[in-house]
Amino acid sequence: MTQRLVVIGNGMAGARTVEEILARGGDFSITMFGDEPYGNYNRIMLSNLLAGVEDEAGIYLNDLSWYADNDITLNAGVRIERIDRFAKKVYATDGTATPYDKLIIATGSSSWTPPMKNVHNPKRGFHQGVFAFRTLDDTRGMIRYARDHERAVVIGGGLLGLEAARGLQNHLSDVTLLHAMGHLMERQLDEKAGHMLQASVENKLGIKVITNAMTTEILGKDRVTGVKLADGTVIPCDVVVIAAGIRPNTQVAADSGLTVERGIVVDDQMRVQDEDDIYSVGECAQHRGNLYGLVAPLWDQAKVLADHITGRNVEAAYTGSKLSTKLKVAGIDVASMGLIAPETDDDEVIIYSEPKKGVYKQLIIRDGALAGAILVGDNSKAASLIQSFDRAQALPEERAEMLFDIGGPAGEVKPEDMPDDAQVCNCNGVSKGAICGVVNAGCKTVSGVMDKTRAGKGCGTCKPLVQRIVEWAAGGEAEEDPAASWYVPGVPMPKPELMAAIRKYELKSVSAVFDKLVPGGEHDAKSKMGLASLLKMMWADQYEDERDARFINDRVHGNIQKDGTFSVVPQMKGGVTTPAELKRIAEVAEKYNVPMVKLTGGQRIDLLGIPKEQLPAMWADLDMPSGYAYAKSFRTVKTCVGSDFCRFGVGDSTALGIAIEERYQGLEGPGKMKLAVTGCPRNCAEAYVKDLGVVAIDGGKWEIYVGGAAGAHIRKGDLLCTVDSAEEVIRLTGRFLQYYRENANWLERTYAFVPRIGIERIREIVIEDVDGIAEALDAAVEEAVQSYKDPWKERAVPATPGQFRTSLPLTVLPQVPVRS
Ligand SMILES: Cc1cc2nc3c(=O)[nH]c(=O)nc-3n(C[C@H](O)[C@H](O)[C@H](O)COP(=O)(O)OP(=O)(O)OC[C@H]3O[C@@H](n4cnc5c(N)ncnc54)[C@H](O)[C@@H]3O)c2cc1C
Ligand code: SF4
Ligand code: SF4
Repeated sequence: MTQRLVVIGNGMAGARTVEEILARGGDFSITMFGDEPYGNYNRIMLSNLLAGVEDEAGIYLNDLSWYADNDITLNAGVRIERIDRFAKKVYATDGTATPYDKLIIATGSSSWTPPMKNVHNPKRGFHQGVFAFRTLDDTRGMIRYARDHERAVVIGGGLLGLEAARGLQNHLSDVTLLHAMGHLMERQLDEKAGHMLQASVENKLGIKVITNAMTTEILGKDRVTGVKLADGTVIPCDVVVIAAGIRPNTQVAADSGLTVERGIVVDDQMRVQDEDDIYSVGECAQHRGNLYGLVAPLWDQAKVLADHITGRNVEAAYTGSKLSTKLKVAGIDVASMGLIAPETDDDEVIIYSEPKKGVYKQLIIRDGALAGAILVGDNSKAASLIQSFDRAQALPEERAEMLFDIGGPAGEVKPEDMPDDAQVCNCNGVSKGAICGVVNAGCKTVSGVMDKTRAGKGCGTCKPLVQRIVEWAAGGEAEEDPAASWYVPGVPMPKPELMAAIRKYELKSVSAVFDKLVPGGEHDAKSKMGLASLLKMMWADQYEDERDARFINDRVHGNIQKDGTFSVVPQMKGGVTTPAELKRIAEVAEKYNVPMVKLTGGQRIDLLGIPKEQLPAMWADLDMPSGYAYAKSFRTVKTCVGSDFCRFGVGDSTALGIAIEERYQGLEGPGKMKLAVTGCPRNCAEAYVKDLGVVAIDGGKWEIYVGGAAGAHIRKGDLLCTVDSAEEVIRLTGRFLQYYRENANWLERTYAFVPRIGIERIREIVIEDVDGIAEALDAAVEEAVQSYKDPWKERAVPATPGQFRTSLPLTVLPQVPVRS
């Protein structure tokens, strides 16, 4: 019988445990609560985000659609404050109570703030300019603040402090690292190694390091101006980042009467004490007296918990983890595992030190097995040492082989010697077996395997090992990555070849494409949206829609927001509306208690914070067509007032904008298409920075610009041509958009597409018709226009029974804020 599983904590351990449970086919209806208002992201990668080597999109492990696709109710941004173990319910700060049959507590840790004067402002938490380094919001705040300032102090010289200091250098020029102990990373490195690391950090990175530095006070009245140390030293600065340690989040458990020592006490099945139906995993759990502050243990814990709770193996037991760490700072190699100093007279200690080069290596061997290792300045042996350490493997007689390559790759980990369950990527918990499984299923490129397994996508130090395993499993060389040229990752064809095959076999649905064109017929979820868009473009109304091929936005025709509600944007062609329409929008907003009514950058009205189940009724009350604010499609034409009203106007930009929008509304594309028409070169509608922008010039002429952007990427469009009439603009707009639709890569916006093809070449095709395809482009776009249907009409007869059924509880926090 389906049981109700509730998970408190939507971080790395909570989500991973749910993934493991799903992989075992556990029969649960799952509800997750996360204090952070996001899907699940890789916290490790925050260091890379701060350092500017990763963007936000790249750190998500599971975005909101993953929860929807797996029928998981996610309450993002909702904190649980109490568990009633007897009534079996969890209580959230928003007043809701959620019953459970099984409960998992995965609340992780919080940053610990050492006692310092003036660190907090009584009204707003940290003093202005002071940050912790734990969450995406912390990192965003730090990046935003650091951009406008010059000097930073990082408190804490452990892994996190070093990564924070290096990352901050990306945003400001002057960074000082303060460490309360005598040497950096004292828990992972001995004194010599710590000093060697300090020299590298100072000389190679230009970060000032002060050890034995006890910070006692944050200086500055309204915002940080410096820090004061116990010896009276003052270090002026504008930003302070505290990375001085973590404390497990155990409050909920303690308040609910569960046994808590330093962490929530669990047994070998990750069950909390005296409770058969409550479990705990991750940094908040205390197992056999140990707390873990790294991800590798939580992968093991998640597997055991999943085995146990699904009944796959009720006897599964977690017996503890051996820890190894690596610093994720480019140019500074540090790895450490196990002991950092010998403990008995019999411990064998091997040390190699080359201070001028900043190289230090130490091994501690006990009973013929590796009990500890430190590597500074040369990480080339890290993977093989971690392997030996994890598995307590027999060591080579020639101990030097463990530290250096002597006469070939003798000391390198050999894939054939590794057991299947050996962990290759600690950051993402990927085993050799998982990598080989993907290779055996046909993916023989390193990047393909990395995409499919996430191996090598954390700190990246395991990439060479991933490569060796892929090569070995592929029976020799790994293949070049042809996927780079594929239209979507799951169908092995570049776009022209794919389109030819789709036409040849008359494939009109996404599943037909997978069945016919993918060897083995595997349906790849990540490819569905791109294929659906392509097929719709190619077949217009002959396209056979399959709802599961759509992203949640396209399934309900609204834009999913961070709290799982949607935004509704009615069409407002060319930004023009009527009093009657405005009245209707206002009445609907009042009737449905819309939390926020907002004007968009594209001259429309956005009703934000709408629960999924209210969408059809709202659309009916609005009785206006969809404005396509959510889709990879033609979105809007922004216009200025133009010659009708403006003293400077030389063209009727409003009328032309409306005509273009009327004709091409809803047109699907590889990326969104934003357009504008402006009545003179003063450019009030920002036409130069649109996917297609039209500018009226003297003499009744119009200029057409393509490939502009003013979002995350900024680019002025290229002049495609100058024409004499509005009709010509409309015709060439359609032809250009069709050429873009047929030839751009999936998600490639025009600002990337136009420079890739070259404006001269585009002009040859679209204007001069040197390839003789202009007529076909015109015909194809005409067909698409004719098959247009307003998606909001689906309200009357939902496409599937669950289309507008909510997967969220009735009250969701945080709601989009109500503004008065
Ligand atoms: C910048 C940075 C770099 C790191 N680098 C590495 C690295 O290189 N290698 C490594 O092994 N580890 C690294 N770590 C540590 C690693 O991220 C953690 O070990 C891991 O995230 C722990 O997972 P968790 O699920 O236990 O906790 P978390 O990922 O912290 O998740 C806990 C979640 O529970 C939520 N929560 C807490 N209380 C409640 C409540 N009452 N109700 C609802 N939700 C709640 C929190 O908001 C949080 O989202 C790094 C950490 C940071 C911050
Ligand atoms: S772009 Fe020209 S016509 Fe349009 S509003 Fe601005 S000044 Fe007037
Ligand atoms: S720019 Fe767009 S994505 Fe970014 S916060 Fe604003 S609405 Fe969201």
